[in-house]
This record gives sequence, structure tokens and C-alpha cells, in this order.
Amino acid sequence: MGYNVAIDGPAGAGKSTIAKLVAKEKGFVYVDTGAMYRGLAVHFLDRGLRPEETDKIIEACGDAQVTIKYEEGIQQVYLNGTNITARLRDEEVGNMASKSSPIPQVREKLLELQQGLAREQDVIMDGRDIGTCVLPNADVKVYLTASVETRAKRRYDELVEKGISCSLDEIAKDIKERDERDMTRDTAPLKQAGDAVLIDSSCMSVKEVVEAILALCR
Ligand code: C5P
Repeated sequence: MGYNVAIDGPAGAGKSTIAKLVAKEKGFVYVDTGAMYRGLAVHFLDRGLRPEETDKIIEACGDAQVTIKYEEGIQQVYLNGTNITARLRDEEVGNMASKSSPIPQVREKLLELQQGLAREQDVIMDGRDIGTCVLPNADVKVYLTASVETRAKRRYDELVEKGISCSLDEIAKDIKERDERDMTRDTAPLKQAGDAVLIDSSCMSVKEVVEAILALCR
């Protein structure tokens, strides 16, 4: 069994930024489970499916093979042999991932892949249900969050920097909807594991959050 660090939290809490830095510092492999849900979402979209077509989504799971490779230390997601990493951050892919992830068969499809990665190597894995469902025996569990306003502003600044025009109110609305979906679904809802350390990064710098997590690791 590898050394396992689980980081859960809502959209935009900074999980991936923090996890990548901790991974680099400690020599862990960073596993982004959201990217796996996004990978399956690409498959559903390519088949022309809509999020409400649950039966067809379940059927489509049967011929989707999501695999992970690391190229120069960076996680790459392959769907049936094709590298689809460049498509994962599209807005429609994120929406489909968020709307298809409550389906138990979708979650089951990815569970073994996630647990297998953590068995074989030292990982820091981020997502929504890592400390509660995927790695209940993780060595370190963190629930990383921040206020809706902070998360929306971070996302807004990120998009503005990329030259993409957007509305702060729209982003905040989208974040609230995602939180609601992730926290209220029946299967593996987002919640803080009983033994997870809560870190609210609203008033913390990236460096401070990284240091707080490093202090929890062996
Ligand atoms: O973290 P990211 O925004 O890439 O995740 C996309 C979607 O995948 C989330 O909105 C969430 O619904 C789902 N997800 C999940 N469980 C995880 C990781 C992501 O349900 N462990």
C-alpha cells in the first residue's frame, strides 16, 4: 500500500493547485479524480448524450475505457486509447461531469482505477469522496474549502488572465449550483470525513495551505 493523502472539497477551493505543490515537495504522484469524471463526460458527449439520459449513460459506460498515464510527471487522461486531456477543462465537459457523476454506475466505473493507483504508489488524490469512500484508510485526510465569494473571485481572475470575458455573478451562481449537486446527491456526496482536517483557505495564501498540509504528512 502506498502512502495516501486525500483532499476533498468543493469546486474552486484550490485542491489541484495545492495538491500539485504538495506532490512535488514530497515526491508523491498527484491523482486528479475530477479529470476521470471529465474523461467519461467526454465519452458521453461524443455519443450525443444529454445529462438526463441516465439509462443511455449507464449503457455507454460499458464501452468506455478511461486510463491514466503520467508524461513528464503530468497526469494524462486517455479515453479508449486517445489522449483527451486537452478537452477536459471545457465548460460543457465540466457540466456533464458534474451531472453524470451522481450515477452509481459512473462512480463504480472509476473506483477501482482510483483505488488501484493508490495501492501501487504514494499518492495525493483530490476529489469529492476520496476520504469518505475511495480511500477511507488514507494516512492524511484534508477537507479544503473557501467561501463561495473567494472561490468565484479566484475563478474569475483566472479567466480574466486568460483573456476570457466573464461575469463574477454568473461564476458564483455556477459554483453554488455545483456545490448543491455534489453535496446533496445520494451516492458519495461531498462531505468532510469524520477524521479529515478542515482547512478554510479563504484568508490563506497558497504557500500557507501547502505548509499546513505538509505539516500533516510523514
Ligand atoms: O474537480 P472537477 O471540477 O474536475 O470535477 C468535475 C466533477 O466531477 C465535479 O463537479 C464532481 O461532480 C465530480 N467529481 C466527483 N467525485 C470526485 C471528483 C469529481 O463526483 N472524486
